[in-house]
Amino acid sequence: MTVRVRYAPSPTGMLHVGGARTALFNWAWARRHGGAFVLRIEDTDKERSTEESERSILEAMEWLGMDWDEGPGVGGPFGPYHQTQRVERHLELSAKLLEEGKAYRCFCGSERITALREEQMANKQNPRYDGRCRGLSLADSTAKAEAGEEFAVRFRVPEGETGFTDHVRGDVSFQNVEVDDWIMLRSDGSPTYNFVVVCDDADMKITHVLRGEEHLVNTPKQVLLYQALGLDVPEFGHLPLMLGTDKKKLSKRTGHTSVQIYRDLGYPRDAVLNFLCLQGWALDGETEVFSVDELIKNFEVKDVSKGGAIFDAEKFQWLAGEYLRQETPAECAAHCAPYVIEAGLMSAEELAARSAWFEQVVAGMQERIRLYSELPEKIAFLFEADDALSYDEKALKNAKKHEVRGDVLAAVLENLLPMLEEGVSASALSEAGKAMLSEKGWKFPALGQPLRCALTGKAGGPDLFDVLIWLGAESSRARIESAIKRFE
Ligand code: GLU
Repeated sequence: MTVRVRYAPSPTGMLHVGGARTALFNWAWARRHGGAFVLRIEDTDKERSTEESERSILEAMEWLGMDWDEGPGVGGPFGPYHQTQRVERHLELSAKLLEEGKAYRCFCGSERITALREEQMANKQNPRYDGRCRGLSLADSTAKAEAGEEFAVRFRVPEGETGFTDHVRGDVSFQNVEVDDWIMLRSDGSPTYNFVVVCDDADMKITHVLRGEEHLVNTPKQVLLYQALGLDVPEFGHLPLMLGTDKKKLSKRTGHTSVQIYRDLGYPRDAVLNFLCLQGWALDGETEVFSVDELIKNFEVKDVSKGGAIFDAEKFQWLAGEYLRQETPAECAAHCAPYVIEAGLMSAEELAARSAWFEQVVAGMQERIRLYSELPEKIAFLFEADDALSYDEKALKNAKKHEVRGDVLAAVLENLLPMLEEGVSASALSEAGKAMLSEKGWKFPALGQPLRCALTGKAGGPDLFDVLIWLGAESSRARIESAIKRFE
């Protein structure tokens, strides 16, 4: 059997991290088995579906590198891949089921259904259809329909017990009586999710349905429909819900929920993929940093955990930092560049003209940031005016703790600046700085704190000898001279 899996997003928003995880596990399963990964756009909710949302979902999938073998843009043998373009087929299958008595027209109307539900709820019963139209003959119901009476089409749930294979939750079985005679076509003729998802999955020859646990309640209805249509039932895997660290459903309250936002915040792409892998799956229970290739090589649906996956935003940031640090300075610089431009620190032209310098700065900063977007704020001091650098209160306080600050800065001007002019390395400067300290009998903070405030205006930050090099002799000198005056 060739594995055929699908991701079937409804284009009603951006790509949710939960959806991205579903897509990723399906994609990995297809790649692992040399099967096909199908992308189907479930756009039947006309009010909420937008083209913009579809575009942004496809774009996010592309960014994550999850290529689809069939679907929008690439076509395939079982298209069209937009659900709204498959309506004729849906109606054909619904007519077939009506004809065979496996579905029936329901003329109850929304008023009666609402009243019925209210009555059942008042009696503490589970709301369900009472089967009033179940007994209508096909001839009678056809006559009513032809006379213009409004109707919905309901699935006729047969008697018995049914089961299905769920690779995550184990084999599931249920009594058919627990399943209501659900609506396949609404009275306006529009098909419902449970109906079309089965039509399309069957027509697209899907072998494994891996999707979020929120759909587990739908699966019995769908399994019964496959059987009514005389089709093979696919195998299922219901992936655990992604929960916030508060154990509640992930929501905008607890953090960002769309993949694009993480991209825009400057999370490395591979960190996003790695983090999604960890939502309900583990490589070996220990290794946290691994690539999607490892997922493809090792992914088994049965290893997915039943329990909720915890979306730990802090761990996500940590992981982002791990990936950012693995990049070469040139790669990282390229990823940080748009943020530096956006922050107005440098233009694209300036960046191109000073690319070696910028890479040097990035190399020194890679240990200190986790997201590309964190860079501009941390290096903004480099772009301030030398004689009007803003000093943080704490930086100034630290600098002023040292009585000898004026002497120290003067010594830097005398001993280190000539070396800087000659173009020595940061480590040579550091050596010279230490030698100077021991000769004068000063402790490192007496140099570090005033010099840091003078050069950066901040209480903490990158290595000071790196900063001297990034600023260059002229700026460094101007900043130190200005600090000597301002510290008094
Ligand atoms: N369009 C459905 C959703 O976005 C797909 C559910 C399924 O995979 O069956 O939730």
